[in-house]
Amino acid sequence: MIAKVVFNLGVEKEFDYFSPEVNLVGKRVLVELNKKKLVGVVIKEAKKTNVKNIKEIRVVLDEAGPTLSREQLRFVYMLKRYYPYGLGELTFIMIPSLLRSSKRLNIESKIVKKRSVSRRKKECIFFKEPNPYCRLEIYRKKIASALKNGSVIFCVPTSSHLKIVYKDLEKKFSSKIALLYSQQKRKEFFSEWLKIKEGKKLILGTRIAIFYFPEDLELVILDEEISPFYFHPEKPFYRVSEVAYLLCQMKKIDLILGGDFPSLEIFKMVKEGKIKLVDKKKKNTFSSWKILEAKDIISKRHSLKVNPLIIEILRKTGEEGKNVAIFYPRRGFSLYLRCANCGYLYFCPKRCAPLRYSQEKNELVCPFCGYREKAPSSCRRCSSSYLKPEGVGMERISFYFKRFFPQFKTSLERKDFLLVTYSNLDTSFWWENSFFCSLVLNPHLLLSLLDFEATFRLYIYLNRIRYLTREEVIVFRQFSHHYLWESLDKNWLDFYKKELHLRKKAKLPPFIYLAKLTLRAKDKDILLRKAEKICKILKKNDKLEVFGPLKEYPFNKLNKFYYSIVIKSARRKVIFEEIKKIFSLFRRGTTKLAVIIR
Ligand SMILES: [Zn+2]
Ligand SMILES: [Zn+2]
Repeated sequence: MIAKVVFNLGVEKEFDYFSPEVNLVGKRVLVELNKKKLVGVVIKEAKKTNVKNIKEIRVVLDEAGPTLSREQLRFVYMLKRYYPYGLGELTFIMIPSLLRSSKRLNIESKIVKKRSVSRRKKECIFFKEPNPYCRLEIYRKKIASALKNGSVIFCVPTSSHLKIVYKDLEKKFSSKIALLYSQQKRKEFFSEWLKIKEGKKLILGTRIAIFYFPEDLELVILDEEISPFYFHPEKPFYRVSEVAYLLCQMKKIDLILGGDFPSLEIFKMVKEGKIKLVDKKKKNTFSSWKILEAKDIISKRHSLKVNPLIIEILRKTGEEGKNVAIFYPRRGFSLYLRCANCGYLYFCPKRCAPLRYSQEKNELVCPFCGYREKAPSSCRRCSSSYLKPEGVGMERISFYFKRFFPQFKTSLERKDFLLVTYSNLDTSFWWENSFFCSLVLNPHLLLSLLDFEATFRLYIYLNRIRYLTREEVIVFRQFSHHYLWESLDKNWLDFYKKELHLRKKAKLPPFIYLAKLTLRAKDKDILLRKAEKICKILKKNDKLEVFGPLKEYPFNKLNKFYYSIVIKSARRKVIFEEIKKIFSLFRRGTTKLAVIIR
C-alpha cells in the first residue's frame, strides 16, 4: 500500500511512502525525508505511485486508533480552500503538541458514530445579550440538551474568561469537561485531549479548541464573538468564527455565537440571511446618555484645568453615597518627561517613542515596547533637577481629584470612585461592578486615529460603559458633527446599518479583503529595498490594489525599523495567493514579515 504523508512544513505537497500495513489514514508515522527522521500524518492511501526507489514507513506511531479522524482530514481540505496554507500545516494544527514528536500512542476512540435521527433544521444564531451571566444561563440549557447526544465545543476569548466560565459550568458538568487552551502545559493538554475520545464531552477552551472536534460533536458555542482574541495574526492566521461556521456547515450541527454586540462581519451575514439574530432586549432598559459639548480637561503649563461641571458631579454623587466611574484613554501621570532647563526629552532606548512617566510607580515606561526604568531625579544631560511632566495621563487626573475629595478611594472594592482606561474594558465580565454614573473624558482621542475601525470600536466601548452604568453616562465631546453621536440615542441596528453602508461605499472590510504586511529589519536601507521589491511584485497583479511601502508609526521600535504594505482586493483568493508567494520570499534573511488580514 502507498501512504500519502504530510509534514508540518510550509510545503504544499504530500510525499509517498510504502507500507505493508493498511488503514493508516489519520495515523502518525515516523519516516525519513531528506535524510532526516520526521513525524508525518497519513492523509490518503493509494495503490500506485510514480515515485521510484520509494522508502518504507519506519514506525507507525499510532498503534491502535488514529490521532486524527477522517472527518478532521476532510475539514483540512475544506480549510485549505479558505486559507493560504499547505495541507501539512493545517493538519498539524489539529494535533496536540506532545504528539508532534515521535511519542507512541495506543488508544482507540470510544465514540460510536451513528446516523443523525433528528430531522430538525440546523440553526446558526447570534445571541445578543449584554449580560454575560444571562448568556451563560442560556448556554447551560443548550449544553445540557446537546450532551445527551454527543459533545459540545464552547470557546471563550481568553484564559481569564475561561476561569470564570469553568467555575460556573463545573457545578453542573464537572465530569464531562475537557479543558483546552493555548498556554496549557503539553502533558495537561494531552490528557484533556484524551478525554475527548471518550465521547459526550464538553470541550471548553480558547480559540484553539475549535480544531480538536470529535466525531460526535453536536453543538459549537462561541462567546463574545467580537473579541479581537478570536483572530490569530501570526501565521497560521485564522478567524475562529469563520472556522466554527465552516465546521458547523460541514457537520450539519448548531452554531451559537453570543455577545453584547456582533462583529460587522457577522452582522453582514445576518443581513444575508446566513445567521439568525436573536435580540430579546428590544426595550431600552439601560441608563441614559448625556452628551455635553464641552472641554473636559486641559493642561496649561503647570496646572490642570478641569471643567467645574465634573467637580460638581463628583461632589453631588459622593454626597449621595453613590459611585462614579471616570473613563479616560491615557495611562500614566504624564505623556512625556522633559528637562525644563535644556529641553532634553526622555526617550525609549530602543527608539520607539518618548517615555511615559508614572508618578505612582516612580518610573518611565515605553508605551510601545514596555521598556521601563526608574524615574530620574535630575536631567541626564545638564543635571538640572527641574524635570517637567508634559501631557495628561490618568494618574494626574486622579491626583487632582484626590486633592478635592480626600475621602474618595479609587479602588474597585470601595466602589466610591474609579478611574478606568478604555483599554481595560475588553472583557464584559465586569457586570457585578456596575456604577451609578459614568463620565467619559476625551473620547475624541480615540476617534482621531487613522484607523477605519476607530468609530466602530468607540461605539462598542461607549455602549459597554452604558451597560455597566445604572443611571447616566455623561460624555464630553468635541467633534459634534461626527455621525457616532447621533447614533448613540438610536437603536443599535441603525448604527450597524449606517456603518455597513459607509464601509461598502468606501470599499472597506467586510465588503473587500484587506491585508497589511508589516516588514521589520535592523537595517533601514535593506528593509526599504526589500519593501520596494515586494511592492513591485504585488503591483504586477492588476486584480490587486497596493498601497506602500509606508513608514509604520512608530517607524522605529525595539531596535528595528518598520514598513508596511497594504493590499486590497474584492476576492479573498487573490489576496491569499499573493501572500503565499510573498511568504516564500521570507524563509531566510534578516527581514521579517507579519500579516494582518481583514
Ligand atoms: Zn537638562
Ligand atoms: Zn520602546
